[in-house]
Amino acid sequence: MSKLIETDALIIGAGPVGLFAVFELGLLNINCHVIDILDKPGGQCAQLYPEKPIYDIPAYPMISGKDLTDKLLLQIKPFSPVFHFEELAKDLKKNNDGTWHISTKKGLNFHAKVIIIAAGGGSFEPKKPNIPNLEKYFDQVRYSIDQIDNFKNKDIVILGGGDSALDWTVQLNEIVKSLTLIHRRDVFRGSPATVNKVMDLRDKGEIKFHVGQVKNIIGSNGILDAVQCEKKEGILEIPCDILMPFFGLTMSLGPVEKWGLNLLEDRVSVSTETYQTSVPGIYAVGDINTYPGKLKLILSGFHETALMAHAVFKYINPEERLTLQYTTTSSSLQKKLLAK
Ligand SMILES: Cc1cc2nc3c(=O)[nH]c(=O)nc-3n(C[C@H](O)[C@H](O)[C@H](O)COP(=O)(O)OP(=O)(O)OC[C@H]3O[C@@H](n4cnc5c(N)ncnc54)[C@H](O)[C@@H]3O)c2cc1C
Repeated sequence: MSKLIETDALIIGAGPVGLFAVFELGLLNINCHVIDILDKPGGQCAQLYPEKPIYDIPAYPMISGKDLTDKLLLQIKPFSPVFHFEELAKDLKKNNDGTWHISTKKGLNFHAKVIIIAAGGGSFEPKKPNIPNLEKYFDQVRYSIDQIDNFKNKDIVILGGGDSALDWTVQLNEIVKSLTLIHRRDVFRGSPATVNKVMDLRDKGEIKFHVGQVKNIIGSNGILDAVQCEKKEGILEIPCDILMPFFGLTMSLGPVEKWGLNLLEDRVSVSTETYQTSVPGIYAVGDINTYPGKLKLILSGFHETALMAHAVFKYINPEERLTLQYTTTSSSLQKKLLAK
């Protein structure tokens, strides 16, 4: 067995909520190790929409997924969390002294007083459309955007009618050569404000919109040239340098499912006072949890981490009284900041 890594809290998931959990726990002098299957922090923000603007983070009228991740990393730096990337939290066991043992798929072993599950949608993968030979053009079929500049002056075809398809239609339209949005219906699932923006762009002729389905792609020597859109009126060929199917994500809870926690519709049930799961000492925050009225938003996840951290403090230090401190007067934060 590899060396045992001891920590107060082991956070599973380095998405925005897992990162902010480091901050809230750090304020109460609880140290953290963080593990993530991905090779970098930021979860969905970094993996699925690093350049998409987010408008509902307080005090940031607009911030990209990447910038939010960078700012969170800066904010938690004083607490020196230890990250373990490309590690899947796999097996969980309770030790005789009430602490937890977690081992990862690649063989790391952790000994933690508490476990914080911030695993979002678990492992996520984009749903792929059923179009023949799609894999031949993997370089020109994108399910997320990392470098927005790669889309400059290109013919882009976006498929789908949800938030991602609509957000990217609005966003990319300003820099591409042409943008065509294709959806099988003329009803969208996105936020009303974005749907209105997309309709406005269509009415002004800045983008094209077709009700239909892409059934074939055309290309040669591994280079994609066009897509064939099947419409009620017939087949339409649309020039295409980059095809972006946004048909949602396949989420799977992964190993968390087998840890004996109460689940509801593939989410971990928690108390809204403590964000503790059905098992004492194991907490769940962010997209992975569920409770009446849950909203899967970064903002909600941030709120959950504050209550969770206070509950964790009481769990680890049952004899100690915890008084609420503002960050401006928190001795823990001041000491850490002064030490940097
Ligand atoms: C296209 C799109 C646009 C969005 N726009 C907004 C928006 O504008 N505003 C907003 O508030 N929200 C938005 N969201 C939702 C927001 O991204 C999520 O609410 C947020 O990412 C949840 O954060 P999290 O930390 O709980 O989970 P995630 O971001 O999903 O991170 C969870 C992390 O846990 C890791 N993980 C999972 N299982 C394991 C395991 N067993 N071992 C190790 N690591 C594991 C994953 O790899 C991942 O990195 C959007 C989502 C999408 C897809």
